[in-house]
Amino acid sequence: MRANIRRGERTRVVIVGCGLGGLKLAVSLRHSGFQVVVVDKNNYNQFPPLIYQVASAGLEPSNIAFPIRRLFQGYPHYYFRMAEVKSIDENEKAIQTSVGTIHYDYLVLGMGATTNFFGNEQIAHNAIPMKTVSDAMALRNHILHNLELAETETDADKRQKFMNVVIVGGGPSGVEIAGALAEMKKYVVPRDYPDLADRMHIYLVNSGDRLLKAMDKKSSATAEKELVRKGVHVRKGWRVTDYDGRVVRMKNGETIESANVIWVSGVKANTIAGLPDEAVGHAGRLLCDRMNRVKGMTDVFAIGDQSLIEGDAAWPQGHPQLAQVALQQAENVARNIVRKEHGQDMRPFVYKNLGTMATIGRKAAVAEIGRWKFGGLTAWLLWLVVHLRSILGVKNKFFVLLNWLWNYVNYKQSLRLILRSNREK
Ligand SMILES: Cc1cc2nc3c(=O)[nH]c(=O)nc-3n(C[C@H](O)[C@H](O)[C@H](O)COP(=O)(O)OP(=O)(O)OC[C@H]3O[C@@H](n4cnc5c(N)ncnc54)[C@H](O)[C@@H]3O)c2cc1C
Repeated sequence: MRANIRRGERTRVVIVGCGLGGLKLAVSLRHSGFQVVVVDKNNYNQFPPLIYQVASAGLEPSNIAFPIRRLFQGYPHYYFRMAEVKSIDENEKAIQTSVGTIHYDYLVLGMGATTNFFGNEQIAHNAIPMKTVSDAMALRNHILHNLELAETETDADKRQKFMNVVIVGGGPSGVEIAGALAEMKKYVVPRDYPDLADRMHIYLVNSGDRLLKAMDKKSSATAEKELVRKGVHVRKGWRVTDYDGRVVRMKNGETIESANVIWVSGVKANTIAGLPDEAVGHAGRLLCDRMNRVKGMTDVFAIGDQSLIEGDAAWPQGHPQLAQVALQQAENVARNIVRKEHGQDMRPFVYKNLGTMATIGRKAAVAEIGRWKFGGLTAWLLWLVVHLRSILGVKNKFFVLLNWLWNYVNYKQSLRLILRSNREK
Protein backbone atom coordinates (compact mmCIF):
# COMPACT_ATOMS: atom_id res chain seq x y z
CA MET A 1 0.00 0.00 0.00
CA ARG A 2 1.81 3.10 -1.19
CA ALA A 3 -0.39 5.40 0.88
CA ASN A 4 1.81 4.01 3.69
CA ILE A 5 -0.15 4.75 6.86
CA ARG A 6 0.33 2.42 9.84
CA ARG A 7 -3.05 1.06 10.79
CA GLY A 8 -2.63 0.82 14.61
CA GLU A 9 -5.41 0.09 17.10
CA ARG A 10 -7.31 3.32 16.82
CA THR A 11 -10.60 3.81 14.99
CA ARG A 12 -9.71 5.33 11.64
CA VAL A 13 -11.73 8.16 10.12
CA VAL A 14 -10.81 8.94 6.52
CA ILE A 15 -11.84 12.36 5.21
CA VAL A 16 -11.84 12.90 1.45
CA GLY A 17 -11.45 16.60 0.63
CA CYS A 18 -9.88 19.21 2.87
CA GLY A 19 -12.11 22.07 1.81
CA LEU A 20 -14.27 24.09 4.16
CA GLY A 21 -16.23 21.06 5.39
CA GLY A 22 -13.40 18.51 5.45
CA LEU A 23 -11.09 20.78 7.40
CA LYS A 24 -13.77 21.69 9.94
CA LEU A 25 -14.50 17.98 10.45
CA ALA A 26 -10.83 17.12 10.93
CA VAL A 27 -10.36 19.92 13.46
CA SER A 28 -13.57 18.93 15.29
CA LEU A 29 -12.17 15.40 15.79
CA ARG A 30 -8.89 16.53 17.36
CA HIS A 31 -9.82 15.33 20.87
CA SER A 32 -11.57 12.15 19.71
CA GLY A 33 -8.58 9.84 19.97
CA PHE A 34 -9.28 8.54 16.44
CA GLN A 35 -6.68 8.15 13.76
CA VAL A 36 -7.66 10.80 11.21
CA VAL A 37 -6.50 10.48 7.59
CA VAL A 38 -7.16 13.50 5.39
CA VAL A 39 -6.86 13.07 1.61
CA ASP A 40 -6.98 15.96 -0.85
CA LYS A 41 -5.81 16.27 -4.44
CA ASN A 42 -4.26 19.64 -3.55
CA ASN A 43 -1.85 20.38 -0.71
CA TYR A 44 -3.75 23.51 0.31
CA ASN A 45 -7.12 24.53 1.73
CA GLN A 46 -8.69 27.42 -0.16
CA PHE A 47 -11.28 30.02 0.81
CA PRO A 48 -13.68 30.16 -2.20
CA PRO A 49 -15.64 33.33 -1.27
CA LEU A 50 -12.57 35.44 -2.13
CA ILE A 51 -11.57 33.65 -5.35
CA TYR A 52 -13.14 36.41 -7.41
CA GLN A 53 -10.71 38.91 -5.84
CA VAL A 54 -7.76 36.78 -7.01
CA ALA A 55 -9.33 36.56 -10.48
CA SER A 56 -9.67 40.35 -10.64
CA ALA A 57 -6.09 40.98 -9.41
CA GLY A 58 -7.20 42.27 -6.00
CA LEU A 59 -5.53 39.56 -3.89
CA GLU A 60 -2.66 37.10 -4.29
CA PRO A 61 -3.59 33.38 -4.37
CA SER A 62 -1.46 32.74 -1.28
CA ASN A 63 -3.69 35.18 0.68
CA ILE A 64 -6.68 32.86 0.41
CA ALA A 65 -5.00 29.44 0.46
CA PHE A 66 -3.26 27.69 3.33
CA PRO A 67 -0.93 24.63 3.25
CA ILE A 68 -2.77 21.62 4.72
CA ARG A 69 0.32 20.11 6.36
CA ARG A 70 0.77 23.28 8.42
CA LEU A 71 -2.81 23.00 9.68
CA PHE A 72 -2.32 19.59 11.30
CA GLN A 73 1.08 20.23 12.88
CA GLY A 74 0.89 19.14 16.50
CA TYR A 75 -2.26 17.04 15.98
CA PRO A 76 -1.46 13.50 17.19
CA HIS A 77 -2.54 10.56 14.98
CA TYR A 78 -3.34 12.81 12.01
CA TYR A 79 -2.10 11.94 8.52
CA PHE A 80 -2.38 13.92 5.32
CA ARG A 81 -2.00 12.41 1.88
CA MET A 82 -2.02 14.54 -1.23
CA ALA A 83 -3.83 12.20 -3.60
CA GLU A 84 -6.77 12.06 -5.94
CA VAL A 85 -9.43 9.66 -4.75
CA LYS A 86 -10.69 7.53 -7.64
CA SER A 87 -13.15 5.00 -6.23
CA ILE A 88 -14.61 3.33 -3.20
CA ASP A 89 -14.89 -0.39 -2.43
CA GLU A 90 -17.54 -0.66 0.24
CA ASN A 91 -17.07 -4.38 0.83
CA GLU A 92 -13.41 -3.83 1.62
CA LYS A 93 -14.14 -0.56 3.48
CA ALA A 94 -11.43 1.06 1.35
CA ILE A 95 -10.85 3.88 -1.11
CA GLN A 96 -8.53 3.72 -4.10
CA THR A 97 -6.40 6.79 -4.54
CA SER A 98 -3.62 7.92 -6.86
CA VAL A 99 -1.12 6.87 -4.14
CA GLY A 100 -2.69 3.54 -3.22
CA THR A 101 -5.49 2.01 -1.18
CA ILE A 102 -6.59 3.45 2.15
CA HIS A 103 -8.88 1.48 4.49
CA TYR A 104 -11.38 3.19 6.77
CA ASP A 105 -13.66 2.52 9.71
CA TYR A 106 -15.63 5.66 8.88
CA LEU A 107 -15.43 7.54 5.60
CA VAL A 108 -16.54 11.13 5.13
CA LEU A 109 -16.79 12.51 1.58
CA GLY A 110 -16.37 16.27 1.40
CA MET A 111 -15.22 16.60 -2.20
CA GLY A 112 -17.27 19.69 -2.97
CA ALA A 113 -18.56 20.65 -6.40
CA THR A 114 -17.13 21.58 -9.76
CA THR A 115 -18.24 23.77 -12.68
CA ASN A 116 -21.19 22.42 -14.64
CA PHE A 117 -21.11 23.17 -18.37
CA PHE A 118 -24.28 21.10 -18.82
CA GLY A 119 -22.61 18.83 -21.38
CA ASN A 120 -21.62 21.61 -23.80
CA GLU A 121 -18.05 20.61 -24.74
CA GLN A 122 -17.45 23.73 -26.83
CA ILE A 123 -18.32 26.06 -23.97
CA ALA A 124 -16.26 23.94 -21.55
CA HIS A 125 -13.29 24.21 -23.90
CA ASN A 126 -13.50 27.96 -24.53
CA ALA A 127 -14.98 29.59 -21.43
CA ILE A 128 -13.10 30.04 -18.15
CA PRO A 129 -14.58 28.71 -14.90
CA MET A 130 -14.03 30.36 -11.52
CA LYS A 131 -14.18 27.55 -8.96
CA THR A 132 -10.63 27.24 -7.69
CA VAL A 133 -7.56 29.36 -7.02
CA SER A 134 -6.01 27.85 -10.17
CA ASP A 135 -9.07 28.90 -12.21
CA ALA A 136 -8.76 32.39 -10.73
CA MET A 137 -5.10 32.66 -11.78
CA ALA A 138 -5.94 31.42 -15.29
CA LEU A 139 -8.71 34.01 -15.49
CA ARG A 140 -6.52 36.86 -14.27
CA ASN A 141 -3.76 35.95 -16.77
CA HIS A 142 -6.29 35.60 -19.59
CA ILE A 143 -7.93 39.00 -19.07
CA LEU A 144 -4.63 40.83 -18.57
CA HIS A 145 -3.12 39.13 -21.62
CA ASN A 146 -6.10 40.13 -23.76
CA LEU A 147 -5.75 43.74 -22.63
CA GLU A 148 -2.17 43.61 -23.88
CA LEU A 149 -3.38 42.17 -27.21
CA ALA A 150 -6.04 44.89 -27.47
CA GLU A 151 -3.38 47.54 -27.00
CA THR A 152 -1.54 46.46 -30.18
CA GLU A 153 -4.56 45.42 -32.29
CA THR A 154 -5.25 47.84 -35.15
CA ASP A 155 -8.53 46.30 -36.35
CA ALA A 156 -11.30 47.94 -34.29
CA ASP A 157 -13.62 44.90 -34.26
CA LYS A 158 -10.89 42.51 -33.20
CA ARG A 159 -9.76 44.95 -30.53
CA GLN A 160 -13.28 45.16 -29.12
CA LYS A 161 -13.43 41.37 -28.89
CA PHE A 162 -10.40 41.46 -26.57
CA MET A 163 -12.03 44.20 -24.49
CA ASN A 164 -15.45 42.58 -24.05
CA VAL A 165 -15.90 40.44 -20.96
CA VAL A 166 -18.97 38.21 -20.76
CA ILE A 167 -19.90 36.74 -17.39
CA VAL A 168 -22.43 33.92 -17.68
CA GLY A 169 -24.47 33.41 -14.51
CA GLY A 170 -26.13 36.01 -12.28
CA GLY A 171 -25.64 34.26 -8.92
CA PRO A 172 -23.33 35.60 -6.18
CA SER A 173 -20.12 34.65 -8.05
CA GLY A 174 -21.31 36.38 -11.25
CA VAL A 175 -22.39 39.51 -9.40
CA GLU A 176 -19.16 39.69 -7.39
CA ILE A 177 -16.77 39.24 -10.33
CA ALA A 178 -18.85 41.72 -12.40
CA GLY A 179 -18.53 44.32 -9.62
CA ALA A 180 -14.78 43.72 -9.25
CA LEU A 181 -14.13 43.92 -13.00
CA ALA A 182 -16.22 47.10 -13.21
CA GLU A 183 -13.79 48.64 -10.70
CA MET A 184 -10.87 47.41 -12.78
CA LYS A 185 -12.43 49.06 -15.82
CA LYS A 186 -12.88 52.32 -13.95
CA TYR A 187 -9.61 52.58 -12.04
CA VAL A 188 -7.00 50.31 -13.64
CA VAL A 189 -7.62 50.32 -17.40
CA PRO A 190 -7.51 54.13 -17.87
CA ARG A 191 -4.21 54.32 -15.95
CA ASP A 192 -2.46 51.24 -17.34
CA TYR A 193 -3.91 51.39 -20.86
CA PRO A 194 -4.82 55.04 -21.56
CA ASP A 195 -5.56 54.25 -25.24
CA LEU A 196 -8.15 51.69 -24.21
CA ALA A 197 -10.02 53.80 -21.64
CA ASP A 198 -13.82 53.48 -22.03
CA ARG A 199 -13.48 50.62 -24.52
CA MET A 200 -13.88 47.83 -21.99
CA HIS A 201 -17.41 46.40 -21.81
CA ILE A 202 -18.60 44.00 -19.14
CA TYR A 203 -21.75 41.96 -19.77
CA LEU A 204 -23.49 39.96 -17.06
CA VAL A 205 -25.74 37.45 -18.81
CA ASN A 206 -28.38 35.66 -16.76
CA SER A 207 -30.97 33.18 -18.00
CA GLY A 208 -33.41 34.00 -15.18
CA ASP A 209 -35.40 37.20 -14.83
CA ARG A 210 -33.45 38.47 -11.81
CA LEU A 211 -29.93 38.35 -10.36
CA LEU A 212 -29.20 36.60 -7.04
CA LYS A 213 -32.31 34.46 -7.30
CA ALA A 214 -31.59 32.76 -3.95
CA MET A 215 -31.95 36.14 -2.23
CA ASP A 216 -34.91 38.45 -1.71
CA LYS A 217 -36.26 40.43 -4.70
CA LYS A 218 -35.18 43.64 -3.00
CA SER A 219 -31.56 42.44 -2.82
CA SER A 220 -31.70 41.38 -6.49
CA ALA A 221 -32.92 44.85 -7.48
CA THR A 222 -30.25 46.57 -5.35
CA ALA A 223 -27.50 44.45 -6.88
CA GLU A 224 -28.68 45.10 -10.43
CA LYS A 225 -29.01 48.84 -9.86
CA GLU A 226 -25.51 49.04 -8.39
CA LEU A 227 -23.96 47.03 -11.22
CA VAL A 228 -25.67 49.16 -13.86
CA ARG A 229 -24.45 52.27 -12.01
CA LYS A 230 -20.92 50.85 -12.22
CA GLY A 231 -21.29 50.44 -15.99
CA VAL A 232 -22.05 46.69 -16.25
CA HIS A 233 -24.46 45.67 -19.04
CA VAL A 234 -26.93 43.39 -17.27
CA ARG A 235 -28.82 41.03 -19.64
CA LYS A 236 -31.66 39.11 -17.99
CA GLY A 237 -33.63 36.30 -19.65
CA TRP A 238 -30.70 35.59 -21.99
CA ARG A 239 -29.67 31.93 -22.09
CA VAL A 240 -26.22 31.17 -23.50
CA THR A 241 -26.32 28.22 -25.91
CA ASP A 242 -22.82 28.25 -27.38
CA TYR A 243 -19.40 29.88 -27.32
CA ASP A 244 -16.74 29.03 -29.91
CA GLY A 245 -13.99 31.20 -28.43
CA ARG A 246 -15.10 34.19 -30.51
CA VAL A 247 -18.87 34.68 -30.34
CA VAL A 248 -21.24 34.03 -27.45
CA ARG A 249 -24.61 32.88 -28.80
CA MET A 250 -27.91 33.16 -26.94
CA LYS A 251 -31.14 31.23 -27.34
CA ASN A 252 -32.98 34.46 -28.25
CA GLY A 253 -30.66 35.00 -31.25
CA GLU A 254 -28.51 37.72 -29.63
CA THR A 255 -24.72 37.45 -29.92
CA ILE A 256 -21.73 39.12 -28.23
CA GLU A 257 -18.20 38.93 -29.60
CA SER A 258 -15.75 38.28 -26.80
CA ALA A 259 -12.42 36.65 -26.08
CA ASN A 260 -13.15 36.66 -22.34
CA VAL A 261 -16.04 34.48 -21.22
CA ILE A 262 -16.35 33.64 -17.54
CA TRP A 263 -18.65 30.70 -16.79
CA VAL A 264 -20.22 30.82 -13.33
CA SER A 265 -23.54 29.39 -14.38
CA GLY A 266 -23.86 26.13 -12.51
CA VAL A 267 -22.19 23.44 -10.42
CA LYS A 268 -22.30 19.68 -10.11
CA ALA A 269 -20.98 17.59 -7.25
CA ASN A 270 -17.56 15.95 -7.56
CA THR A 271 -17.81 12.19 -7.53
CA ILE A 272 -15.90 8.90 -7.50
CA ALA A 273 -16.62 5.43 -8.88
CA GLY A 274 -18.24 2.74 -6.76
CA LEU A 275 -21.07 4.77 -5.24
CA PRO A 276 -24.51 3.14 -5.45
CA ASP A 277 -26.80 4.56 -8.17
CA GLU A 278 -29.61 5.04 -5.66
CA ALA A 279 -27.40 7.53 -3.77
CA VAL A 280 -26.88 9.91 -6.69
CA GLY A 281 -29.33 12.81 -6.73
CA HIS A 282 -29.76 16.15 -8.50
CA ALA A 283 -26.54 17.48 -10.08
CA GLY A 284 -24.60 14.50 -8.76
CA ARG A 285 -25.18 15.34 -5.08
CA LEU A 286 -25.15 12.33 -2.77
CA LEU A 287 -28.49 11.65 -1.14
CA CYS A 288 -28.10 11.43 2.62
CA ASP A 289 -30.32 10.97 5.66
CA ARG A 290 -30.53 13.64 8.34
CA MET A 291 -27.27 12.31 9.85
CA ASN A 292 -25.43 12.84 6.53
CA ARG A 293 -25.15 9.05 6.01
CA VAL A 294 -25.02 8.23 2.30
CA LYS A 295 -28.10 6.34 1.12
CA GLY A 296 -27.53 2.58 0.86
CA MET A 297 -24.06 2.69 2.47
CA THR A 298 -22.69 1.85 5.90
CA ASP A 299 -20.29 4.11 7.78
CA VAL A 300 -20.01 6.44 4.78
CA PHE A 301 -21.03 10.08 5.21
CA ALA A 302 -21.13 13.00 2.76
CA ILE A 303 -21.02 16.67 3.76
CA GLY A 304 -21.16 20.11 2.19
CA ASP A 305 -21.63 20.73 -1.52
CA GLN A 306 -21.38 17.03 -2.34
CA SER A 307 -24.31 16.04 -0.11
CA LEU A 308 -28.05 16.50 -0.33
CA ILE A 309 -29.97 15.75 2.85
CA GLU A 310 -33.45 14.33 2.33
CA GLY A 311 -36.24 14.54 4.83
CA ASP A 312 -35.68 18.01 6.33
CA ALA A 313 -39.12 19.64 6.04
CA ALA A 314 -37.56 23.11 6.26
CA TRP A 315 -35.33 22.37 3.23
CA PRO A 316 -37.29 20.00 0.96
CA GLN A 317 -34.93 20.55 -2.01
CA GLY A 318 -31.84 20.06 0.18
CA HIS A 319 -29.69 22.73 1.81
CA PRO A 320 -28.00 25.42 -0.28
CA GLN A 321 -24.39 24.77 -1.36
CA LEU A 322 -22.92 27.35 1.00
CA ALA A 323 -19.98 27.56 3.38
CA GLN A 324 -22.12 27.61 6.53
CA VAL A 325 -23.92 24.42 5.52
CA ALA A 326 -20.61 22.58 4.98
CA LEU A 327 -19.16 23.85 8.27
CA GLN A 328 -22.23 23.01 10.35
CA GLN A 329 -22.67 19.56 8.78
CA ALA A 330 -18.98 18.82 9.45
CA GLU A 331 -19.40 19.62 13.14
CA ASN A 332 -22.52 17.48 13.41
CA VAL A 333 -20.93 14.50 11.64
CA ALA A 334 -17.86 14.74 13.92
CA ARG A 335 -20.12 14.64 16.99
CA ASN A 336 -22.16 11.77 15.53
CA ILE A 337 -19.15 9.56 14.79
CA VAL A 338 -17.97 10.04 18.39
CA ARG A 339 -21.50 9.30 19.66
CA LYS A 340 -21.70 6.14 17.57
CA GLU A 341 -18.33 4.93 18.88
CA HIS A 342 -19.69 5.43 22.40
CA GLY A 343 -22.86 3.49 21.61
CA GLN A 344 -25.06 6.61 21.63
CA ASP A 345 -27.70 7.60 19.08
CA MET A 346 -26.73 10.00 16.32
CA ARG A 347 -28.46 13.37 16.11
CA PRO A 348 -30.01 14.83 12.96
CA PHE A 349 -28.52 17.88 11.28
CA VAL A 350 -30.42 21.13 11.80
CA TYR A 351 -29.25 24.05 9.67
CA LYS A 352 -28.90 27.40 11.37
CA ASN A 353 -29.07 30.01 8.62
CA LEU A 354 -26.67 32.80 9.63
CA GLY A 355 -27.50 34.87 6.56
CA THR A 356 -26.26 35.48 3.03
CA MET A 357 -24.26 38.29 1.46
CA ALA A 358 -22.76 39.37 -1.86
CA THR A 359 -20.48 42.29 -2.69
CA ILE A 360 -20.86 44.54 -5.69
CA GLY A 361 -17.42 46.12 -5.90
CA ARG A 362 -16.13 48.58 -3.34
CA LYS A 363 -18.47 50.13 -0.79
CA ALA A 364 -21.52 48.17 -1.99
CA ALA A 365 -23.02 44.84 -0.99
CA VAL A 366 -26.33 43.20 -0.18
CA ALA A 367 -26.93 41.25 3.02
CA GLU A 368 -29.81 39.23 4.43
CA ILE A 369 -29.65 38.22 8.06
CA GLY A 370 -32.87 36.81 9.45
CA ARG A 371 -35.58 39.38 8.80
CA TRP A 372 -33.01 42.11 8.07
CA LYS A 373 -32.32 42.90 4.45
CA PHE A 374 -29.98 45.76 3.71
CA GLY A 375 -27.41 47.03 1.22
CA GLY A 376 -24.82 49.75 0.69
CA LEU A 377 -21.81 50.58 2.83
CA THR A 378 -23.12 48.88 6.01
CA ALA A 379 -23.55 45.57 4.19
CA TRP A 380 -20.12 45.95 2.61
CA LEU A 381 -18.41 46.62 5.95
CA LEU A 382 -20.18 43.63 7.48
CA TRP A 383 -19.05 41.51 4.52
CA LEU A 384 -15.43 42.62 5.10
CA VAL A 385 -15.52 41.67 8.78
CA VAL A 386 -17.21 38.30 8.24
CA HIS A 387 -14.81 37.27 5.48
CA LEU A 388 -11.69 38.55 7.20
CA ARG A 389 -12.59 36.49 10.27
CA SER A 390 -12.98 33.35 8.13
CA ILE A 391 -9.59 33.52 6.41
CA LEU A 392 -7.07 31.04 7.81
CA GLY A 393 -3.81 32.28 9.31
CA VAL A 394 -2.84 35.52 11.02
CA LYS A 395 -0.44 36.44 8.20
CA ASN A 396 -3.17 35.94 5.56
CA LYS A 397 -5.66 38.00 7.58
CA PHE A 398 -3.08 40.78 7.90
CA PHE A 399 -2.21 40.85 4.19
CA VAL A 400 -5.82 40.69 3.06
CA LEU A 401 -6.74 43.57 5.38
CA LEU A 402 -3.71 45.55 4.20
CA ASN A 403 -4.64 44.92 0.55
CA TRP A 404 -8.23 45.98 1.12
CA LEU A 405 -7.21 49.16 2.95
CA TRP A 406 -4.66 50.02 0.26
CA ASN A 407 -7.14 49.38 -2.56
CA TYR A 408 -9.80 51.33 -0.72
CA VAL A 409 -7.69 54.48 -0.65
CA ASN A 410 -6.08 54.37 -4.09
CA TYR A 411 -6.62 51.18 -6.12
CA LYS A 412 -3.01 51.10 -7.21
CA GLN A 413 -2.23 47.54 -6.21
CA SER A 414 0.52 45.93 -8.20
CA LEU A 415 -0.83 42.41 -8.66
CA ARG A 416 -1.39 42.76 -12.37
CA LEU A 417 1.47 40.47 -13.38
CA ILE A 418 0.89 37.87 -16.06
CA LEU A 419 2.60 34.86 -14.53
CA ARG A 420 2.49 31.61 -16.44
CA SER A 421 4.73 28.59 -16.69
CA ASN A 422 6.38 27.99 -20.07
CA ARG A 423 4.29 24.85 -20.51
CA GLU A 424 1.02 26.84 -20.12
CA LYS A 425 2.10 29.37 -22.74
C1 LIG B 1 -16.11 31.35 -6.37
C2 LIG B 1 -16.92 30.87 -5.19
C3 LIG B 1 -17.45 31.79 -4.31
C4 LIG B 1 -18.20 31.36 -3.22
N1 LIG B 1 -18.70 32.31 -2.36
C5 LIG B 1 -19.40 31.91 -1.29
C6 LIG B 1 -19.87 32.85 -0.35
O1 LIG B 1 -19.64 34.07 -0.50
N2 LIG B 1 -20.57 32.40 0.74
C7 LIG B 1 -20.82 31.07 0.92
O2 LIG B 1 -21.44 30.70 1.92
N3 LIG B 1 -20.39 30.16 0.04
C8 LIG B 1 -19.68 30.53 -1.05
N4 LIG B 1 -19.24 29.59 -1.95
C9 LIG B 1 -19.60 28.19 -1.73
C10 LIG B 1 -18.67 27.54 -0.69
O3 LIG B 1 -17.35 27.81 -0.99
C11 LIG B 1 -18.93 26.04 -0.67
O4 LIG B 1 -20.28 25.83 -0.30
C12 LIG B 1 -18.00 25.32 0.30
O5 LIG B 1 -16.66 25.50 -0.05
C13 LIG B 1 -18.34 23.84 0.32
O6 LIG B 1 -17.44 23.17 1.14
P1 LIG B 1 -17.07 21.67 0.86
O7 LIG B 1 -16.18 21.24 1.98
O8 LIG B 1 -18.28 20.88 0.58
O9 LIG B 1 -16.25 21.68 -0.52
P2 LIG B 1 -14.96 22.50 -0.91
O10 LIG B 1 -14.66 23.58 0.03
O11 LIG B 1 -15.13 22.83 -2.34
O12 LIG B 1 -13.79 21.40 -0.78
C14 LIG B 1 -13.72 20.27 -1.58
C15 LIG B 1 -12.31 19.68 -1.46
O13 LIG B 1 -12.30 18.38 -2.06
C16 LIG B 1 -11.11 18.21 -2.80
N5 LIG B 1 -11.35 17.19 -3.81
C17 LIG B 1 -12.28 17.22 -4.81
N6 LIG B 1 -12.24 16.08 -5.52
C18 LIG B 1 -11.29 15.32 -4.95
C19 LIG B 1 -10.78 14.01 -5.23
N7 LIG B 1 -11.27 13.24 -6.22
N8 LIG B 1 -9.78 13.53 -4.46
C20 LIG B 1 -9.27 14.27 -3.45
N9 LIG B 1 -9.72 15.50 -3.13
C21 LIG B 1 -10.71 16.01 -3.87
C22 LIG B 1 -10.83 19.60 -3.36
O14 LIG B 1 -9.47 19.77 -3.70
C23 LIG B 1 -11.26 20.50 -2.19
O15 LIG B 1 -10.18 20.78 -1.32
C24 LIG B 1 -18.45 29.99 -3.03
C25 LIG B 1 -17.92 29.06 -3.92
C26 LIG B 1 -17.15 29.48 -4.99
C27 LIG B 1 -16.55 28.47 -5.93
